Amino acid sequence: MADFSDLQLDVARVRRDFPILDREVHGKPLVYLDNAATCQTPRQVIEVFDDYYRRYNANIHRGLHTLADEATAAFEGTRETVRAYLGAAESREIVFTRGTTEAINLVAGSWGRANLGPGDEVLISRLEHHSNIVPWQLLAGELGFAIKVIPVDERGVLDQAAYRDLLGERTRLVAVNHVSNALGTINPVGEMASLAHEHGALIMVDGAQATPHQPIDVQALGVDFYAFSGHKVYGPTGVGALYGRAELLEAMPPWQGGGEMIKTVSFETPTTFADIPHKFEAGTPAIAEVIALGRALEWVNGIGLELIQAWEARLLEHATEGVASIEGLRVLGTSPDKAAVLSFVVDGAHAQDIGLLIDQLGVAIRTGHHCAQPLLSYFGVEATCRASFAAYNTPEEIDVFVEGLERVVSMLR
Ligand SMILES: *Cc1c(COP(=O)(O)O)cnc(C)c1O
Repeated sequence: MADFSDLQLDVARVRRDFPILDREVHGKPLVYLDNAATCQTPRQVIEVFDDYYRRYNANIHRGLHTLADEATAAFEGTRETVRAYLGAAESREIVFTRGTTEAINLVAGSWGRANLGPGDEVLISRLEHHSNIVPWQLLAGELGFAIKVIPVDERGVLDQAAYRDLLGERTRLVAVNHVSNALGTINPVGEMASLAHEHGALIMVDGAQATPHQPIDVQALGVDFYAFSGHKVYGPTGVGALYGRAELLEAMPPWQGGGEMIKTVSFETPTTFADIPHKFEAGTPAIAEVIALGRALEWVNGIGLELIQAWEARLLEHATEGVASIEGLRVLGTSPDKAAVLSFVVDGAHAQDIGLLIDQLGVAIRTGHHCAQPLLSYFGVEATCRASFAAYNTPEEIDVFVEGLERVVSMLR
């Protein structure tokens, strides 16, 4: 059994920040293990909304009154918080988006449209979330470039030899996730970035599952673009960010047009565009959500990502040991380098049935294809059960989950 005693994480105190963890589901205490789909928000984040709409709700950047100044300061302050969180050099390299999906679509729609054409290749991987597959497929259909797929092995680890073979002089972009949401595999994106650059290609990293679980340093990793979502990192839905190297963002054409992203608009002379990052932020953004995202990242920093990472590694070990005794259970994703995700299938029991029955015991896990159908098809399954962990989960909750799973599986067989 995993030992947690040496870790300085006061989980009881962490949990007190999350009002939702006090609720019951079907008369049982909630055990929330669906963090890879969306993570719960601490009261410090929830309070931002109340505070913002009671005290300083105003549109940003264009006002000359006090409320607009306060809202702008809080909004732009978050850009600095995100810059520091990702280890970016300058805050103008941070573009706010609706989330990871929109950030990837921005890279595809702006950089991709300007730089890709027939004969070019974009490398993605079999581990990708649909949001890092479909935008490239849509664009390839229009522009005629090719998509090549880096394969995985039976552990769910990207085949680095195959990656090297796929890289060539036609490769323009490598687009991969940092951590797989379906399996938890951590990809060596720093090394992959060096290799991409050696071939004159750029690399875009989907960081949706890495930002909640480990310290990120985009400069040390040497990546060109990095995307993440607020709601996977203790923040609200509807907001996320794209990091892009300043010189790349500056050279990229606007993506969406509208207010906030222009310098001058005229019918007689060409419209001119704002400097980065505003060039990519058309229209009124999700102001309260952005400010709340900043508060979420501050909350994470208050605990410390190293500690969260160590705590979750222990939870994963404890859960992996716990489910190992269940007959016919197969864990998918056995990479030696793995984040807090436990994906599995059980002989003779459908994933959906397991999910529904274990919910009756108050335990929330996810079942389905996890927006990664090509990956699941490689493993020969259509759905898995996935338990994924956060800083507020406890070893006792893992025990409830494992015991519940044993009961549910025996009922289904
Ligand atoms: C959740 C997730 C996404 C999509 O994020 P949205 O918040 O839905 O835009 C993309 N990639 C990975 C790895 C994810 O986990």
